[in-house]
Amino acid sequence: MDLVIRNGIDDIHYQPIEVGIQDGKIQAIAGEGLPSGAQEIDAGGGIVSPAFLDPHFHLENALIWRDPLNTSGTLAEAIELYARIKREMPLEDIVERGARALRLAIGNGTLWMRSHVDIDQVGRLHLLEGVVELRRRFANLIDIQLIAFPQLGMARNPEAVDYMWQAMERGADVVGGMPHGERDMEDAARHIEIAFEIARHFDADIDMHVDETDDPYWHSLELLAEKTIEAGWQGRVTAGHCCSMSAWDDGMAGRIIEKVKQADLHIVTNAPVNLMIQGRKDRHPQRRGIPRVKELLEAGVNVSCGQDDLQNMFYPFGSMDMLDVANMVAHAAHLSSPEQIQSAFDMPRYNAARGRRLQNYGVKVGAEANLVVLAASSDIEALSRRPDRRFVIRKGKVLVETRTERRWSPEAQ
Ligand SMILES: [Zn+2]
Repeated sequence: MDLVIRNGIDDIHYQPIEVGIQDGKIQAIAGEGLPSGAQEIDAGGGIVSPAFLDPHFHLENALIWRDPLNTSGTLAEAIELYARIKREMPLEDIVERGARALRLAIGNGTLWMRSHVDIDQVGRLHLLEGVVELRRRFANLIDIQLIAFPQLGMARNPEAVDYMWQAMERGADVVGGMPHGERDMEDAARHIEIAFEIARHFDADIDMHVDETDDPYWHSLELLAEKTIEAGWQGRVTAGHCCSMSAWDDGMAGRIIEKVKQADLHIVTNAPVNLMIQGRKDRHPQRRGIPRVKELLEAGVNVSCGQDDLQNMFYPFGSMDMLDVANMVAHAAHLSSPEQIQSAFDMPRYNAARGRRLQNYGVKVGAEANLVVLAASSDIEALSRRPDRRFVIRKGKVLVETRTERRWSPEAQ
C-alpha cells in the first residue's frame, strides 16, 4: 500500500484503527496488523476522521475588515458597504485574499467548500471571474463549488436575472438566492420561481440565503420547501442562515419545520456570524438569530454549519476551522447531551457531505482517502480544544502536517 496510518482511533466509536491507502483510495481498515506501506504515519492515538466540509462561505470578500468599517454591525450596512466596493476590487486582490482564507481552511482539514459569489447589476460577473481563477489555482488542494448569489434581488432587479443565467454558463455550479432581500413575500415567491427555472435548465442544486433577518414576517423558508416539493428537487436544496426562525412563534415554526422535513431541505446554520450580526436592534431579551437547531434535529432534518465570513464588513472574526464553527453552534443551540455533541461534531462532516450529495464519504474501504487526523480522542476533545490537525490527507497524499509544542520552563514544572 502507498500509505498506512497507524495508532489511530475511529471517528464514531473511538476504537483503535489502522487505515491502508492505495491509489488515493482506502483499501483496508483494521484494528491492528495491516501490512507495511511505502509511507507510514503515526496518528498518535488521535481520531482518524473524514475531512471537513465548509458548506457556506464567501471567498471574494474575505479578509477586508476595517476598510470599509461596518459601524452599526448590521447586515444592512454590510451589504451597502460591500456594494460600494465590489466592482472595483482588483482580480489579483480577490485571488490573493481568497488564497489566504483557503490555506487556513485546508490546514484545518477542510477539503470541500461551497462559496457564494455575488451576482448582480453592480458587481456583474467580475467577482465570479476572480473566484473561478482562485478555484483553478487550488484545484489540487480543495474541491470548491461556486454558488451564483443574487444578493441584491431578482424580482426587483431583472438585470440581475440575466447575470445569473450567464454566471451558470461561466463557472457557477449551484443556483443561489436571497428571497428575503425582495420587497415582500410575493416577490420572494417570484425570486424562488426564477431560481428554480435556472436550476432546472442547468440541472443544478439550489443553495439560498434564507430569512437572514430578525423579522418574523419573513418565512420564505416555507415557500422554498413548497416549491422544492412541487419541482421534485427534494434533497437538492439547501437553506442557509434561517434566522427569523428564532423569532417565529412555536406554531409557525412547527408547521414550517414539518414542510422542511418533507422537502428534505438541508439547513446550514452560520451561527458565529449570525450571533454577531442579528438582534442588533433588540433590547433585552435579545434574539439569537440562529435556526432552531435542536427542533430541526429532533424532526430528522439534516443540519450542518458554515463559517460564512472571515474578517470583513459582515464579521470581524473567523478562523476557517470547522471545529470552531461547530463548537459555537453547540453553544448557541444548547447542544450538550452526548448525542447532541456527536451531532455538532458531525455537522461539518457527515451532515455537510449529505447536503452536498457527496458519494461514499467516510472512513471506509473503497472511499477516496480524504482524511484529517486530529490530536484528540473524542468528539468533546475535538470540539473543546480544536486540536492540531496532525495530518490532512487528500486523495491519499499528505498535504499538511501540524505539530504544536508547548514548553514549560523548569520553574513551572
Ligand atoms: Zn452567506
